[in-house]
Amino acid sequence: MIRIATAGFQHESNTFSSVPASLDKWERAGIQEGDAIRREYATSQATLAGFFQACAEAKDVELVPLVFTRLTPMGAMTGEAIEHIMARCLAAIRDNGPWDAVLLPQHGAAVSDPYPDADGEYVRRVRELVGPNVPIGLALDMHANVSPQMVDNADVTTVYQTNPHIDAREQGLHCARLILRMVRGEIRPRSALRMPPLLVNILNQGTSDAPMRDLLRIADEQRRRPGVLSVSVVEGYPYADVAEMGMSFICVTDNDPALADDVAAKLEEAAWSMREALNTGGMKIEAALDRARQVNARPVAIFDVGDNVGGGSPADSTLILHAARRMGVSDMLQALCDPEAVRECRRVGVGGRFNMAVGGKTDDRHGKPFPVKGVVTALSDGKYEETGPTHGGFRFFDDGPSAAIKTDDGYTLVLITRPGGTASLQQFRTLGIEPTELKIIVAKGVHSPRPAMEPIAKELIWCATPGVTTADLTTFSYKHRRVPIFPLERNTALSR
Ligand SMILES: [Zn+2]
Repeated sequence: MIRIATAGFQHESNTFSSVPASLDKWERAGIQEGDAIRREYATSQATLAGFFQACAEAKDVELVPLVFTRLTPMGAMTGEAIEHIMARCLAAIRDNGPWDAVLLPQHGAAVSDPYPDADGEYVRRVRELVGPNVPIGLALDMHANVSPQMVDNADVTTVYQTNPHIDAREQGLHCARLILRMVRGEIRPRSALRMPPLLVNILNQGTSDAPMRDLLRIADEQRRRPGVLSVSVVEGYPYADVAEMGMSFICVTDNDPALADDVAAKLEEAAWSMREALNTGGMKIEAALDRARQVNARPVAIFDVGDNVGGGSPADSTLILHAARRMGVSDMLQALCDPEAVRECRRVGVGGRFNMAVGGKTDDRHGKPFPVKGVVTALSDGKYEETGPTHGGFRFFDDGPSAAIKTDDGYTLVLITRPGGTASLQQFRTLGIEPTELKIIVAKGVHSPRPAMEPIAKELIWCATPGVTTADLTTFSYKHRRVPIFPLERNTALSR
């Protein structure tokens, strides 16, 4: 029997967030071991499902799940969290070996206090533990900030090639199949990594739209060259202040390092020629509200990009609300995370008068609390189900105790207890609100609200609001990123 271990952790760390990914949060999210991992992930659409499938389709291979955990995007991992999680993964690999190969289901944008390249540090330690001759497969998210330390310590690195991510399982399968061929002596993978000094704005990251669609088409052509085993276009995650932050390209060939580098270089040059189109950004708040006001139909969806919960934001930004009130724009709906305001709604009850400032309580980058007077129209437990399509394939949502209020000056607000994006219209409908009846719906997110909003909205507007996930990267003070990098330094050149 061929025995393969899998162990790892997934985190996208927003180093501009003030909320640390501490060990207690990881433990609450669940650090799983053994068959619990198989039960949860083998039939999912996640990376691990691809690992399980590749090993199940070969009769003589056993995949042994050891340790796995994942946590919603927020601030950097604490030192305690990263050391604890790495120690558990490494001890399990050491104590249950020897192994014919190891598969690592990582994200690639984890940052921790002692290790800015936390994923790279983990892969390095796994390599140190198993030695140079045990194949290591590494599967990453398309938002990975890929480092040489990751690629050099792994034999095969694969990356999701869709955003929204719908191919996690497929890429996990691809990674595991290549590692199995390596174990059987059929191939000798050699990798190249290119890291151009280039960012991709969050608003230009959708892979079904130009320019990313065009870049992926070029990657497909390169993938067909003889000897090429895998090609990855990596968008990177701009909200992490680390040296590797930015775009990258990985190519794996069968024992041909020159070919691997040539493929990665061709993609790098193609992306460089698209650098302006990869960084067009979004509308400012006033312009977005003006545009929404001009559309002669309802509803119009404004995406609050600076308060993108999936990217690590708090879901309580009031910046659009304050601007709307200043401009006299109302007839607007949005959800805000504010546990204190929900408690007040429950106290006064349905039909009761509400008078309190809501949202804007995490930090002043997401606006100040928004004073409202109005009536509580509904209360709920915040649980709802979406049977239609959602980003990441999720079905059950839980925003915690929730309430709806109608303010005296024309705003309909849904108040929630846990940070939640706008991934489903049920967030509103379970509170008796019909979103199609309002003029403007403010949705928290960049990609996740699309499946809910596209069928009903007459227009979608991406608004570059400030916040820890803003599309305007010039508002962050980076200390550790590479300099220069386009578009933050417009005079950047590509060195070949
Ligand atoms: Zn991602």
